[in-house]
Amino acid sequence: MSESKEGRMFKTPAWVKPSGVREEYLCSDCFKVVGVRSRYELVCNLGKALEGATVTELTQKLGLQQPTVTHHLNVLRSVDAVKVKERGRERIYTLNREAHCFEECKIPY
Ligand SMILES: [Zn+2]
Repeated sequence: MSESKEGRMFKTPAWVKPSGVREEYLCSDCFKVVGVRSRYELVCNLGKALEGATVTELTQKLGLQQPTVTHHLNVLRSVDAVKVKERGRERIYTLNREAHCFEECKIPY
């Protein structure tokens, strides 16, 4: 690839909810968050789950395989879009509402 990755913009996919603040183009980190439809659905689910959710709960809600959900969560964590905390043996995932993708790039959820 000759093109520099920095500053590259990606068109917002059609499945991202229309919103007054929705950006037409996203940076590469934010495109990671919404570029896969089921990953964006996971973000919207976490957006509604104020107390957060476990992988098991997300797997049931989204009707996805657990490894898929785990993979999506790892990608989301890599761009700081979700936070994880331990509760006993469980890991609870919450949306990081202050993250760049929601505050700066205005991804609706
Ligand atoms: Zn961004």
